Amino acid sequence: MNKFPRSAYVHIPFCHRRCFYCDFAVIPLGNKVETLKGYGSKTVHEYLHFLYKEILSIEHKSPLSTIYVGGGTPSILDPKQIKELIDLFKENYGIDYGAEITMEVDPASFNQDDLYGFINAGVNRFSLGVQSFNNQILSKSGRRHIGEDAEKSCLWLKRVYDSGLIKSWSLDLIQNLPLSGFKEWQYDLKKAIKFSPPHVSIYDLNIENGTVFKKLVNLGKLKLPSDEDAFRNSESTNSILKESGYSRYEISNYSLPRHQSRHNRVYWSGLGWWSFGQGSTSSPWGEKLTRPRVSKEYKKWVTSQYKFNLDSSLVNSDFVYEELDEKIMLGLRLKEGIDIYKVLKEQNWENEKFESNLSKLLEEWERFLESGLLVRQGNRFFLSDPKGMELSNQILISMFKWWDNVS
Ligand code: SF4
Repeated sequence: MNKFPRSAYVHIPFCHRRCFYCDFAVIPLGNKVETLKGYGSKTVHEYLHFLYKEILSIEHKSPLSTIYVGGGTPSILDPKQIKELIDLFKENYGIDYGAEITMEVDPASFNQDDLYGFINAGVNRFSLGVQSFNNQILSKSGRRHIGEDAEKSCLWLKRVYDSGLIKSWSLDLIQNLPLSGFKEWQYDLKKAIKFSPPHVSIYDLNIENGTVFKKLVNLGKLKLPSDEDAFRNSESTNSILKESGYSRYEISNYSLPRHQSRHNRVYWSGLGWWSFGQGSTSSPWGEKLTRPRVSKEYKKWVTSQYKFNLDSSLVNSDFVYEELDEKIMLGLRLKEGIDIYKVLKEQNWENEKFESNLSKLLEEWERFLESGLLVRQGNRFFLSDPKGMELSNQILISMFKWWDNVS
């Protein structure tokens, strides 16, 4: 394994306003956002200043094979700012030939000229946050775009992909939003497939603390799809996408052949990655570090870290993945699953401890194997599809239980 991470995540926290389900580290700039000279530019410039400082503070920079610019809403930035960011990596880390450079884009915040600008800046993969094509669902969820914006964005991305200007793109939807019953979800899915995105992410709605949705739930005012509809929605996602040639390579991700997200696979397979920006989490050597979520604290943190060289304050040259339960959970989410013997061996436990922890885990999993949620092939375990993938929470909870008792 390469000692130094070859992947970098960059967090651009700006959004127009906060969507009703979102608890990410974001800075709402309002509707009049202009990031080069207008409203919002000072906040953005200041943030980028600290972000660049953080990026440069890594001492052992090695060429990157994936970069993921996420948020927030990175497409709020001007193409010139995206170019500056990618050039910073190019000049200081190096970017491998054929590297995957992904940027998240939101239908309400870019036009065709911006898209070409982002491509000229070096972005070769886009992840489009459609969430739904239905205007009522979008508005109930606090999104700024309407279905027509989403359709236009899909067409533009399809066009640049078909003409070979980008390597791939992903269309992202959220399942089980308010008002999204079986009929509405079928419409969204079928509409999505019409644009032939090479990659589709389907996220299940989670009600997070501190969000508008959470408040509405507490007041009994949020009408979510019934359990029955939610179950039918999941089932139809799986069957419709599979019938259309997509393979489910992770719980929330489907792709056509050769279009899996290389960057996401780095997270799931436990390889190290850099991460930059407020609220983001890096894991260069297996240990995780989450930056402050609030701008003021983040800037203070960057200033303090800069004195030391960021990676030297994180260095742990022996690769030991401390959060083993998380590593197993991430591995199980993948289609190919996880070799549990190999993963436990990496802990370098004494024989007795290894045997005891392994047998406790296998005991926990016995009932999931019996009920068909989990499948075993030799030393490899994976979630059955669709049953295990839909009900994965049960297995994940058992993992926490096991991990708490690991001696
Ligand atoms: S656009 Fe995305 S990051 Fe921004 S508030 Fe909405 S869900 Fe959150």
